[in-house]
Amino acid sequence: MYDIIIVGAGPAGLTAAIYACRAAKSVLVLEAAAYGGQIINTPDIENYPVAPHISGFAFATKLYEQAKALGAEIRFEKVTDVLDGAEKQVVTSKEVYPCRAVILATGSVPRKLGVKGETELVGKGISYCATCDGAFFRGRTVAVVGGGNTALEDALYLSDLAEKVYLIHRRDAFRADGGSVEKIRARGNIELVLNSTVTALSADSRLQGVTVTDRAGESRTLAVNGLFVAVGRIPANRAFEKLVALDDAGYAVAGEDCRTGVPGVFVAGDNRTKDVRQLVTAAADGAVAATAAVKYLEA
Ligand code: NAP
Repeated sequence: MYDIIIVGAGPAGLTAAIYACRAAKSVLVLEAAAYGGQIINTPDIENYPVAPHISGFAFATKLYEQAKALGAEIRFEKVTDVLDGAEKQVVTSKEVYPCRAVILATGSVPRKLGVKGETELVGKGISYCATCDGAFFRGRTVAVVGGGNTALEDALYLSDLAEKVYLIHRRDAFRADGGSVEKIRARGNIELVLNSTVTALSADSRLQGVTVTDRAGESRTLAVNGLFVAVGRIPANRAFEKLVALDDAGYAVAGEDCRTGVPGVFVAGDNRTKDVRQLVTAAADGAVAATAAVKYLEA
């Protein structure tokens, strides 16, 4: 029986593991995919205190090694359910693990555009990760869709590789930080396609073009080899929908203390209701949730 099981090995989950291990609790971290969560897709982190210009992968690897060195056990198994009771049961595709407290730190998954043909063209021109797939488009023409930090950072990253980048956004104001917007405007090979949405995809065996429609209803087709979708993320809380309260957008409801309405169940990071979803707030949530879990165990 573990003291604390942490679901998710992103910045929130691994930081929670560090705090729980340092409080001498037995800790199992369960992760469905790779450690690091979405930060591994960020080429260059500029806004984490005292660590300017570190790649997301390097950051995640250091965090993973730090949690392991402190004694966290980390297994790569997908959690499918968490059952409440005198002891909690964390169900994976392989086993059922009993524990006394659970921290849900599963983050989020990319939101799809919802355009016809999108799913079929994933890996054939459509991607949700510029740093993973950008190199396939060296010297080609690509489009990025979205107006947040991810979309603008993706467009900047791709503009170093691709010949031309269209940045398609449904409004004329960006949600992203002003600094990124200035950099985008200064790049010679990024063309802004504003007040426009992607309304159709054209393809043979691979993506050939995206049709964009502006607010006046005018459509045109941009010839592109790749489309990088960066229109936000959806909280990965499906396995917990019977366990904890979720808000209308699917975030697990908890305040800054990371406590859900269920005793012994805590939520940390991007899958929690909160205003600021950043690397630093994910790490902070991990510390808060682990500290609350330790208090719960020692009460
Ligand atoms: P986001 O900030 O939620 O932005 C999503 C963008 O996609 C918005 O511009 C939105 O348009 C657009 N959008 C949403 N649904 C759409 C649809 N169906 N069709 C077309 N456009 C659509 O998401 P994000 O960029 O992934 O960032 C998520 C969080 O991570 C944010 O808090 C962000 O600041 C943070 N982040 C931080 C960094 C960094 O600090 N270095 C890097 C990446 C991400 P509207 O603007 O019109 O709503």
